[in-house]
Amino acid sequence: MAAKAHLVKLRYRYGVLGLGVVLVALAWWLPQGAASAKAVPIEVLLVTLGSGILGAAYGSRSGRGLGLGTVALPPLLYFGGSRLAAPAALVFLATASLISRLDPEGSGHEHGGGGASERTLDEWAELLGTRMLAVIAAGFVWLSVFAGPGESTFRAGLAAGSTYFLVIAVAEVIRWSTAGRELRKDAFNRDLAYEIGAWAVGVLSVTVFLSSGRGAGIGLLGAVAILALELARLERERKIAVEGAQAMREVHLAGHRIIFGESEPLAIARQIFGECRRLVTFSWFQLVLLGANGAEQSWFSGPDGWIREGLPEPPPRPAALPGVHRRVKWRILERDLSVPGRRLGVIRMWCDPRQQRPGAIGWLDALLPQMASSVHSVVLDREARQDPLTGLADRRALEERLHNVHSQAVDAGLPMAVIMCDLDKFKRINDLHGHATGDQALMAVAAVLETHRREKDLCCRYGGEEFAVVLQETDGRTGLQVADRLREAVQDLTFESHGKRIKLQLSAGVAAFPELHVKQADELLELADEALYKAKKLGRNRCLLARGGARFETVSGEMVGATEKPSQPSQPLIPRLFV
Ligand code: GH3
Ligand code: MG
Ligand code: MG
Repeated sequence: MAAKAHLVKLRYRYGVLGLGVVLVALAWWLPQGAASAKAVPIEVLLVTLGSGILGAAYGSRSGRGLGLGTVALPPLLYFGGSRLAAPAALVFLATASLISRLDPEGSGHEHGGGGASERTLDEWAELLGTRMLAVIAAGFVWLSVFAGPGESTFRAGLAAGSTYFLVIAVAEVIRWSTAGRELRKDAFNRDLAYEIGAWAVGVLSVTVFLSSGRGAGIGLLGAVAILALELARLERERKIAVEGAQAMREVHLAGHRIIFGESEPLAIARQIFGECRRLVTFSWFQLVLLGANGAEQSWFSGPDGWIREGLPEPPPRPAALPGVHRRVKWRILERDLSVPGRRLGVIRMWCDPRQQRPGAIGWLDALLPQMASSVHSVVLDREARQDPLTGLADRRALEERLHNVHSQAVDAGLPMAVIMCDLDKFKRINDLHGHATGDQALMAVAAVLETHRREKDLCCRYGGEEFAVVLQETDGRTGLQVADRLREAVQDLTFESHGKRIKLQLSAGVAAFPELHVKQADELLELADEALYKAKKLGRNRCLLARGGARFETVSGEMVGATEKPSQPSQPLIPRLFV
């Protein structure tokens, strides 16, 4: 696709250049009329002024003088000075605009992101305005070159040329001063440099044609064509480099996804973002997924297009656009994603109304059912991997994550740890308060684990009243401290049933890689389970770190062996269980 667009762009460039060269050659054989140029028709001056204002109002991009400066030359050479100059210039303007339809980048700003066929009316006006200005100003300059210094035509030409560059320069200054930091970087863009260069070449070529004859003139234009070729080649290389950088970023993101086990919802957020972006021009994007239990999860992206979890913070107004534009407010497009009987989420887009393509919203609405159904399948898949009672990941999700984190740890030489927790004497809670209360206690513990975990860690309900936590980039000691914090948090949990406070406690075992050099990730789970078993034996409500060879380390740094007798429990459990 990119290669095709590039080809079209090259065709445009060489098409205009070739047409210019052919017309120069043709003009050479036509009866010479330029030398008779005397007066400047008033309507030509008016057209110049009007198109100058139009060009200034609609954008800073110049008229691609390289092609147009050359195209304007022959008719003005021939008709110069007569009233036909303006219509002739307009015919060439129309030709140039027609050719520019093929130019995928046109002279529009980059925000649209669409091809030439998707240009808005504003963009067409900008295109016409700047090109009209370029062609007419070029005409006047050629006229003045033929008239020679001292003639009124020469002064008019000089004025037209200066006005043209002044208008472009003022538009550039306005763009620079109103643009955000990002746009400011490419202020005084390459187009202006091309334009100035092209005009210099144009003036030079006419002078050479007149002073040294057609051979030298054609030779010079040939040299310009070679230069233009080189310019296009450099532009192509730049584009390839930019695309390469983008591809690198994608690879980096994909790597990030593999390392951190990107959740499916992030992938779907990225996909929906991509689909919306193809249809609608927006600066900020948000996808909110509504969980079955009323919980909301939000992903967003700002103008950088990078999707992450969290809430968007768009500025109060859209950023300034190149050129002079009216000030506007955001237009916030909000659409529900739902399937029959279920509202799954919401997408929001902060759009700049000046950049909207006609019909875009209709296309978006037409695509909503497909988007909703992809979200639905992800939500169903996620729900299938969730423990229905606590909402934590289930064992299948744990195994996947454990495997990914372990492979990453092996490859990158990073540590990882696993915590296995088991609630102490949980059976009693069921027996004394009923199964429903037991369920609520499990939900309360799960909530504690979820709030204490870091973003990249995974909490899972391993079964019954057992939980597992996978900690990335964490060594054994740190894992043990994390486990002990979880133990304390569960101990401090205020859980009440029928007005009675019920105390909950847990024991935990921790195992870490590469301190324990396991080949398979699930061996870590077994070792953590051994440490948990030992913690239970030593009196519960405590955490131990597996050190290998059936030796375990306590939070205070003491080592205990497999054969040791259970020490006194740190806190007498049963009398304190119910307060
Ligand atoms: P220990 O300190 O040795 O772990 O004692 P415990 O009573 O917690 O140990 P045990 O494994 O014998 O009992 C676990 C109990 O957890 C058995 C079961 O009644 C309860 N349990 C398991 N799953 C659920 C559940 O989904 N809901 C409820 N309410 N109870 C559950
Ligand atoms: Mg158990
Ligand atoms: Mg238990």
